[in-house]
Amino acid sequence: MDNKPVYLDYNATAPLKPQIKAAMDEVLGEPLNPSSIHSSGRKARKLVEDARQKILQRVSGEALVFCDSGTEANNLALGQIGRTENGERKTEIIVSAIEHDSIFKVENPIIINVNKNGVVDVDDLKSKLSVHRSPLTVLVSIMLANNETGVIQPIRDIAKIAHQYGALVHTDAVQAFGKIDIDFKELGVDMMTISCHKIGGPVGAAALVHRAGLELKPIMFGGGQEKNKRPGTENVAAIAGFGKLAENVSRETFVVSGERKTENGKEEEKLFTVHRSPFTEYLESEIKKFAPDAVIFGENSPRLPNTTCIAMPEIEAATQLIHFDTSGICISTGSACSSGKVEDSRVLKAMNAPLAKNAIRVSTGWATSKADMDKFIKSWRELYLRAKNAAA
Ligand code: PLP
Repeated sequence: MDNKPVYLDYNATAPLKPQIKAAMDEVLGEPLNPSSIHSSGRKARKLVEDARQKILQRVSGEALVFCDSGTEANNLALGQIGRTENGERKTEIIVSAIEHDSIFKVENPIIINVNKNGVVDVDDLKSKLSVHRSPLTVLVSIMLANNETGVIQPIRDIAKIAHQYGALVHTDAVQAFGKIDIDFKELGVDMMTISCHKIGGPVGAAALVHRAGLELKPIMFGGGQEKNKRPGTENVAAIAGFGKLAENVSRETFVVSGERKTENGKEEEKLFTVHRSPFTEYLESEIKKFAPDAVIFGENSPRLPNTTCIAMPEIEAATQLIHFDTSGICISTGSACSSGKVEDSRVLKAMNAPLAKNAIRVSTGWATSKADMDKFIKSWRELYLRAKNAAA
């Protein structure tokens, strides 16, 4: 019998796809430094540049800087600020209340609220942009899709508005890449973070995609790699895996498409038409059949096709996590457990969500099967009924 746990935590990280592993195995172990002039160096350079082209093609981007992680690429984006001669920040940084910590923990951010559906409040953004005082400039960083709820943000609108106020705009698309169609030019942002380990690529490769005309400043000092934007020898095997993955993420597998506002603006704007993945749709509809009191966060918003954040009344998240873990199922209680302890979710708090303490995140991916979903639903039902019976 196969004792492998059912893995439903893709938004944390995904299993490496066999074809990506094979592509990496081909070069792993070789002495590959793209800065070397000899034949091995030239081979490494070609691997990196081929990967760059494949990734740019996939997201319709103009330029990118390879980094080691989404966290690093986000930090690089936040580093694009003006400073006074004494090193003081000249730039206001505006972020949403639901950003990943690698954005949210920036020093002294101005924070934009989200509504109860988990969508960034564009009016709040406008009002905060309108009070910024010259000579301060502004950098706006708002994610494309949230890691806990999967809620997709109206980035095209946000970029348009922020640009009207002369701000620089960044979006963290770590969770969105490979799950919804991303077109950098259409989004209209200046910078965008992507990484590949949430969808079957390796940990150790990420990128900050940016407008070709934007002169990025490095945040670390060292060698002249990545055109002086990011020092340090490139992780060639991981970058090659990232490129291979980008090539294989076919546009047909994307499940969210954009519909444009008409010229006269009469037609109601639909930013995304969401077709939920059969698995998460199945999961949500099955659970609702016997647990109408279950809460699905961001249910009324466009969401990533692979993410369900759901609360079971009566049972706190940490207890659920132990139940699922002992039943051989890996899920998460949200993003707030990076240090091994479970804390209340900042994202759900910002949404003013009921039953936030009882919320778990289920996230699926390339290797998820219907049998996995069935095992999870059965296990969820057992715990739910046990709690109901105990309460009766
Ligand atoms: N941004 C978002 C939205 C994420 O979900 C994550 C990771 O979970 C990151 C950034 C950071 O990625 P990494 O931990 O790979 O650096």
